[in-house]
Amino acid sequence: MEPFLYIVGILMFAGLGLLLNHERRQARKLVERSKELERLSAELLRASRMKNEFLANVSHELRTPLNAIVGFVDLLREGVYGDLAPRQVKPVERIEASANHLRHLVDQILDLAKMAAGRLDVHTEILDVRPFILDVASEVESLVNEKDLSLSLTMGSALPRIRTDPTHLRQILVNLIGNAVKYTNAGTIVVRTRTVLRAEGLTLGLPEDLMPDEPDGAWLCVQVADPGIGIAASDQERIFEEFEQVEAGPRADSPNRGTGLGLAISRRLARLLGGDLTLVSEMGRGSTFSLWLPIHAHDLASPQYASNSG
Ligand code: ADP
Repeated sequence: MEPFLYIVGILMFAGLGLLLNHERRQARKLVERSKELERLSAELLRASRMKNEFLANVSHELRTPLNAIVGFVDLLREGVYGDLAPRQVKPVERIEASANHLRHLVDQILDLAKMAAGRLDVHTEILDVRPFILDVASEVESLVNEKDLSLSLTMGSALPRIRTDPTHLRQILVNLIGNAVKYTNAGTIVVRTRTVLRAEGLTLGLPEDLMPDEPDGAWLCVQVADPGIGIAASDQERIFEEFEQVEAGPRADSPNRGTGLGLAISRRLARLLGGDLTLVSEMGRGSTFSLWLPIHAHDLASPQYASNSG
């Protein structure tokens, strides 16, 4: 009996040794793997930073010659260097449209690169919403009138003042209205601006994670609604990604062609301003983009803000 116990003891001891050795090897492998992961993630960060810097530098360098092309073509078209022959008018217009498109694309890439690098500044001001929306509407009026469309503004009778960056806000709204014009052939584009109190928010599509913490928190909601071609449910998330477009849009050779960057920039800008950009749409029945911006409780309580309607 005793030798048997002795053998079992030795076997157990050897098994334990093997197990310990195995564990030690596993632990060493884990440490090595986590070091490798750390190295890879540092490399990825560096590559992403370099990509953003490269994009920002290239875009910046492209802007100067592009501005010169746009400027000189404009002078050519206006006849500053003599009248154009009838056969020259169309090609000069094509050069102008393409150069403008390229400049817009370069500006958008520059914006995206700055945002990705966290270098897009936000200059917050106190903004009176009503005159601001009226001003944006007058800016896009010619765009709307170029097609058989009309623009209608609906505003709550007493809108609060908000603290936000007017340049970024203008860029989002001009882009949304520009898209509404681009993807609508006839009818009315409605820009609806109102204060949405916490309780109403969810029913209007306010993202749940955006719900204000304070019970009396509120949002300014600016909706751009068009009766245009609409966006299929399967495309509604991807169009907010960079360079994503839907087949139904204007063709590549159309002067109205887009870049596929406007919505990506707009949503990032909205989030930079503490809000978000959401979409409700149905194919063939139009689209409604809603921009949500936070309203500080004391701005909501200001004497200018009396009630919420519209
Ligand atoms: P683009 O410069 O192509 O308009 P955006 O990022 O602004 O780029 O929009 C991405 C895509 O989303 C568009 O190409 C278009 O397919 C779709 N889209 C955007 N706005 C509308 C709209 N109001 N109605 C229908 N489709 C839209």
